[in-house]
Amino acid sequence: MKKEFFSIAIDGPAGAGKSTIAKKTAQVLGIEYIDTGAMYRALTLKVLRNKIDPLNYKEIISLLSKSDIDFNDNHIYLDGVLVDDEIRENKISKNVSYIAVIKEVREIMVSLQQKLATRKSVIMDGRDITTVVLPNADYKFFVTASVEERSRRRYKELIEKGEIDVTLEKIMEDIRRRDEIDSTREVAPLKMTSDSYLLDTTNKTIDECVDFIVSIVKGRS
Ligand code: C5P
Repeated sequence: MKKEFFSIAIDGPAGAGKSTIAKKTAQVLGIEYIDTGAMYRALTLKVLRNKIDPLNYKEIISLLSKSDIDFNDNHIYLDGVLVDDEIRENKISKNVSYIAVIKEVREIMVSLQQKLATRKSVIMDGRDITTVVLPNADYKFFVTASVEERSRRRYKELIEKGEIDVTLEKIMEDIRRRDEIDSTREVAPLKMTSDSYLLDTTNKTIDECVDFIVSIVKGRS
């Protein structure tokens, strides 16, 4: 019997192009896109707004238990308020990895994400989707690019948004630090599973990347 829903899991480091590719693939396939990084970012936004130290585990866990983080139509809502733009600011990127190492935070986020994947066919991206959130996903991809290219992309994005307090060197430093924390942390570190397809986006256009994923999904489904 054919399953009612299918799932695509994507992991990879910061700036690899995961969200852009996943969003477009979702449109092509007519399925739901779930950006799990946005969920950790929304919590980070609330932590900073409440002037809580990003290293204060206890207060952060208690804050999360009183928060509502949800998606509607590809937009992220924190306590019912749209926060798509605020969560992309550089100060959030700089702090999010400290909050994402907290075991209890991850447990709550993972169970929320698993629940979201039961409602429809989904494409979900993050750092632990192929390993922890959807280990039985129908299709798995590890999306990456060189650290130089990833830093250039993030820099361009921030400049276009009008952030002035950034340099390419500083962004590269932040990305390297984030890679290091994300891939060496104790709980759910970023790694490529043996059953994932590797997609290196360094010299590829977005459309080429989307075609790669869509052709695999269509070819096998
Ligand atoms: O994907 P994005 O860059 O928005 O993710 C922000 C941060 O959230 C990552 O650097 C990582 O620390 C954390 N994250 C995570 N697990 C996920 C998604 C994101 O730890 N599934």
